[in-house]
Order: sequence, then structure tokens, then C-alpha cells
Amino acid sequence: MPTLCAVFACGNKTLDKSLSFYRFPKVKVNAASDLNTQILKQRTAWLNALHRTDVQDSQLKNMRICSVHFKSGKPANYNDDKNPDWIPTLSMGYNSGRSKATTPAIKRYNRASRRMELKPTQLFPNTMQLNVVDSSEHSMSIDVPNE
Ligand SMILES: [Zn+2]
Repeated sequence: MPTLCAVFACGNKTLDKSLSFYRFPKVKVNAASDLNTQILKQRTAWLNALHRTDVQDSQLKNMRICSVHFKSGKPANYNDDKNPDWIPTLSMGYNSGRSKATTPAIKRYNRASRRMELKPTQLFPNTMQLNVVDSSEHSMSIDVPNE
């Protein structure tokens, strides 16, 4: 059975041999708890990046994310959370380069994108000030695809 990429707007199938498909980070039995905490953090970040409310955590074991959603074509290791590829960001089916800013590197990355987004609103400096707050989880930022 071919598996579809978990990204809602993608639809790539595991049959496509020109792509790679990656499983969700999975907590390891017997691993140190801080390691599992980090894996779980990445797993949750991936799930958030999907922006799908129809997906339960228990379904993730059957789901894959294809290589087009990672800048380098593959996800970063769970402990490399400064890497933008720590979560899938490209072609996610919504006009955003991220879901949750969970690491300083990704926050910096998002602030850069947001600055670009905010240029047209400079007539309203107060609004702009509000938008810069990091907790704007549901605000959209523009991803600049380099594909
Ligand atoms: Zn995909």
C-alpha cells in the first residue's frame, strides 16, 4: 500500500522513488529520558507543522513526510534543533514558513520572515509592534521559498 505524504496539500506517494519519506520522530524505549523529551518535542513540532486537526498522535506511526518539505531534502536530527530543517517548513499547504517557533534559531528565522511581511503595514506602527510578539502562534508569516 502506498502511503501519502502527511502534508495536507502535498499528496506525494511513497511510490515516487525520486522522493524520500520520513517517519515522525519516535520516542525510543529504554532511551534516556532527556533524549526522549527532545524526540517528543520534535515529534510534537512536526505534528503542529502539519496544521491538521484530524490527525491523532496514535496515527503518526503510519504517516510519512516527504523530502520536499525540508530545505535540505531531509529532516535534521532531533538534537539539532537549531537547524531550520528540525521541522518541515516548505510547501506545507498554508502561507506560513513555520508552525510553532520552538527554538531560538527558528524564532530568528521567523522574525526575519515576519519583518518582510510587515513592510506594507508600516503606516500602523502600533499594529506592527503587536505583531512582533512571539506568541502570535496563529499569525501567518510568509515563507520565501528557495526552491
Ligand atoms: Zn509531501
